[in-house]
Amino acid sequence: MIFERNILLTGGAGFIGCHAVKHFVTAYPDYRIVVLDKLTYAGNLDNLKEVADKPNFVFVEGDICDAKLITDLFARYEINGVMHLAAESHVDRSIENPMEFVMTNVVGTVNLLNAAVKAWGEHPASTASTGSATAATGAKYLFYHISTDEVYGSLGKEGLFREDTPYDPRSPYSASKASSDHFVRAYHETYGLPVVISNCSNNYGPNQYPEKLIPVVINSILHRKPIPVYGKGENIRDWLFVGDHVSAMDAIWHRGASGRTYNVGGNNEWQNIQLVKKLCQIMDDNLGRATGESEGLITYVTARKGHDLRYAIDASRLRDELNWEPKQKFDEYLSTTVDYYLSLFKS
Ligand code: NAD
Repeated sequence: MIFERNILLTGGAGFIGCHAVKHFVTAYPDYRIVVLDKLTYAGNLDNLKEVADKPNFVFVEGDICDAKLITDLFARYEINGVMHLAAESHVDRSIENPMEFVMTNVVGTVNLLNAAVKAWGEHPASTASTGSATAATGAKYLFYHISTDEVYGSLGKEGLFREDTPYDPRSPYSASKASSDHFVRAYHETYGLPVVISNCSNNYGPNQYPEKLIPVVINSILHRKPIPVYGKGENIRDWLFVGDHVSAMDAIWHRGASGRTYNVGGNNEWQNIQLVKKLCQIMDDNLGRATGESEGLITYVTARKGHDLRYAIDASRLRDELNWEPKQKFDEYLSTTVDYYLSLFKS
């Protein structure tokens, strides 16, 4: 079977990756999606069982740091696009073990970039963007790096991260993602590699490894265990439903301009403590507990080292240039998310 696109999607067994895979495999039967995933603690093949039998889905277990494997995959599947999501993604783990983050997030990314340049060829400098982006629509080749807003550092009470906000990473995780973003841009400028980058805010939704805030809170409430909240719970995050992130990825993949960066956010800021209290209310209703019962489980713990105060995204470029809007049904999506983890944790 001849496919219109052969896309190597890394990290497809993880949280965001599996939603991206399910979307692109089903919405675009003419695209072959070759998932490469190491199946670390955060990857789970069950996340992909809905598409396992589809003719345009291929799964390969392997490491993005394995240069020979990557080169072989580019040749075997005639890869002409990359959606790169594989990463070590948990800030707390990066504080304990930064080197693993350097290996996967930096070395692994450079490995993929090298393979892309080798397979697709260098392009004359004139076709790389030098400040002004060139259209990627219909581009034969595209390397799309999925990154985080944490590369921008921390905001005070006011302001938003824009695409021209200077990078100021403050954790080993965000430093490794910032570094990989820089490599992606450098390969665009140096070798003319067609690239796009998106920097997204905190995602929530089903299939996340239950070490991050929302699944941790749900699990704690279900089992009447202390709900750990860093510091005074005043840190602010901009929460985006994972399905909205995937719809942004679709817009960026198809209509993004080569060499351009897009911020993705939900315009949906919550202090951690407000979000935890909201989850307590939803869960009290859901579990038939007395109103306020779950809030009694909130336990303030020592803040993470270098815990950034506030992240918030200005996604107007994505809205104005690519016509993307998040669906923004926070209450509804949060309830769906609670239902998902409740059934997971009860089983
Ligand atoms: P995740 O930790 O849930 O999944 C990461 C996936 O990558 C896992 O399936 C894992 O097995 C795989 N992986 C890890 N190391 C690998 C390696 N060396 N080779 C091949 N596969 C490997 O992460 P996520 O939350 O889905 O995040 C996906 C991407 O999106 C990451 O690049 C992350 O930086 C970025 N991002 C995440 C968020 C968020 O809120 N989760 C927000 C913005 C950006």
